[in-house]
Amino acid sequence: MIDFRSDTVTKPTNDMRAKMLSAQVGDDVYGEDPTVNELEKVTAKCMGKESAIFVSSGTQSNLLALLVHCERGDEYIVGQQGHTYKYEGGGAAVFGSIQPQPLDYEGNGTLDLNAVAEAIKPDDPHFARTKLLCLENTQAGQPLPLDYLSEARSFCNRHNLSLHLDGARLFNASVALRVDVQVITQHFDTVSVCLSKGLGAPVGSLLCGPVDLIKKARRWRKVLGGGMRQAGIIAAAGIHALDCHVSRLEADHARARLICEKLRSLNHPGMQISDAQTNMVFISFHDVDVHAIASRLKEKDILITPGKRVRLVTHLDLNDQDVEYFVSEFTKALD
Ligand SMILES: *Cc1c(COP(=O)(O)O)cnc(C)c1O
Repeated sequence: MIDFRSDTVTKPTNDMRAKMLSAQVGDDVYGEDPTVNELEKVTAKCMGKESAIFVSSGTQSNLLALLVHCERGDEYIVGQQGHTYKYEGGGAAVFGSIQPQPLDYEGNGTLDLNAVAEAIKPDDPHFARTKLLCLENTQAGQPLPLDYLSEARSFCNRHNLSLHLDGARLFNASVALRVDVQVITQHFDTVSVCLSKGLGAPVGSLLCGPVDLIKKARRWRKVLGGGMRQAGIIAAAGIHALDCHVSRLEADHARARLICEKLRSLNHPGMQISDAQTNMVFISFHDVDVHAIASRLKEKDILITPGKRVRLVTHLDLNDQDVEYFVSEFTKALD
C-alpha cells in the first residue's frame, strides 16, 4: 500500500530494527535503562534544554507539559485546531482540571498576539488563572515564522505566561527554514517532539525543558501509567531516528512540492491546492466526489483520507516512483 494518510504509518527500517535488537536495557522506572538515559540526554542537548523525558506519545508529552505548567483552575491559550485542544481527548480538562481557551489560528498557523492579550483573564475570582500559551510547529504543515516566535516570547514575558511548543513535527520546521532546531526551541519553556512521525520511529515522544519541570513531569508520567521498564528497546529506535532520519526530511518536502506542482498543472476547476512548505499538501475540493476518488485509488493500492479538504503526507516509506504513480492514478480518478 502507498499510504499518503499520515507520516505516522512508517515502519521501522532494517537498520533501526538492528539497533533495537542490540539495545542495552534496564528498568527505566529506576532510571537504569542506559539507552533511555542516552536518548533523553541527546534530545535535551539537541533542543538546548536542561532535561528531557521519554514518553509513549505526543499526546502524553503535551499532557505532561500542561500538567507541569498549570494547576487545577488554571487556563492555557491554544489554537482552535490545536492538537492539544482538539485531538487529545480533552486530557487537560480530564486529568488536570485545566481550562483551555481556544482562539482561531491565523492563516499562517500563528495566534494573533493581540487576540491572545484580550483572552488573558484579569486576576479576579470570577476567572480561571491564565498561565500558558501553547503553539504548534509545524501547524497544518506550515513552519511558524521565526520573528513571530521571538515576539511570542517577549509577549509571554510581559504577561507572565509560560510558553509551550507542540513540536510534533519540529524537525520538519527546522529543515524547511534551514535553521538549527534551537533557533526555534530557544523561545520556549518546554518543547514536545515526536519521534514516530516523519522521523520513522515506531513509538515515542520527548518533553524537554528545565530540570524542575521535567522532574515534575516524571511524577505525572508515573501517575498517568506511563512509567516504562526496559524501554531501551524503543529508545534505541528513537536515537537512530534522530541520527539518521532528520536530514532526509528534505526529500519528503521535495516530494510534497512535486505533488503540489503536478496537481496544480492539471488546472482542475474543482481543486484548490495549498503551498507545500514541509511534508504536507492540502487539497480543497468543491463539486468533486472525493470518496469515489479515494475508493478508486484504494483499488490501485493508494490510501488517502477523503474529505472536503484532503491532506496528503509524504514520509520515509514513500519514494519518487510512488509519487509519480500516485499523480498518474489520481489524475485518472479525477475524470
Ligand atoms: C501527532 C501529533 C501529536 C500527538 O502525537 P501522538 O504521538 O499521535 O499522540 C501532537 N501534536 C501534533 C501537532 C501532532 O500532529
